[in-house]
Amino acid sequence: MKSRNGSFATGAVLVGIHLGALAAFWPGFFHWSSVAVMLVLIYVTGGLGIALGFHRTLTHRSLTLWRPLEYAATVCGCLALQGSPIDWVVTHRIHHANTDRDGDPHDANAGFRWSHFLWMVMPNKNFAIGDERRRYAPDLFADPVCRFLDTYYLLPTVILAIALFAFGGWSWVVWGIFARLAIVYQFTWLVNSAAHTVGYQSFRTDDRSTNCWWVALLGWGEGWHNNHHAFPFSARHGLRWYELDVTWILVKTLAAVRLARDLKLPTPQMVSRLRLPRAARRRTSA
Ligand SMILES: [Zn+2]
Ligand SMILES: [Zn+2]
Repeated sequence: MKSRNGSFATGAVLVGIHLGALAAFWPGFFHWSSVAVMLVLIYVTGGLGIALGFHRTLTHRSLTLWRPLEYAATVCGCLALQGSPIDWVVTHRIHHANTDRDGDPHDANAGFRWSHFLWMVMPNKNFAIGDERRRYAPDLFADPVCRFLDTYYLLPTVILAIALFAFGGWSWVVWGIFARLAIVYQFTWLVNSAAHTVGYQSFRTDDRSTNCWWVALLGWGEGWHNNHHAFPFSARHGLRWYELDVTWILVKTLAAVRLARDLKLPTPQMVSRLRLPRAARRRTSA
């Protein structure tokens, strides 16, 4: 049964994963091969799974991936252990529908810590349950793979953990599961907290979303978040030449080899209509 509240069980799991990540500092668990495994998996689960898969493809349909690749990216997203694809997409669509006002699951007005992680573990009336989930994600409910992963989204992580243990022992498990999850969590959560607090606004969005260069660097281009709230349908988040967006580079590359199509972008008219005058661009504020 899906709960409307954030749960203390979620909190316990998150604390446990961060404590497990600390074990990576124990000398017995350190191997350079484990660091390499972690770095690869950070990109595979955070960059391919969350940024490209769950966010730009499934939530916003800002591009269409070759179907087997879409499913592979969805499985990679499950490996980030941020809930099932359907729950992730539903929560994020609700965030876009009510950004920074009543109804937003991680309203940045409630404070940095709330939007960073407390919204998941404290009572929160803005999670969708039951039929509400279907209303926000009918496209995903129509997909048998997404429905399967809605129930079995932990399965890929179990398989990965067994494989890591088989090939690299506990060191690969500690670095490839626990340390990697803790890092990808922090990078993802910063999009909801820092990129609604610190940085500049290029566009009039009537919310607190910001473009934050260091969140964009850590988060595979997802930190150009004011651009994203202005044009949620856009496959490209970094819109200026200096706004590096590695996920957009990946999308263009996939399109060049015909693995992605229907890339959506704002028109110049849309951009100029919402662009703020230079003086109105907020630098940083809490
Ligand atoms: Zn946002
Ligand atoms: Zn979004």
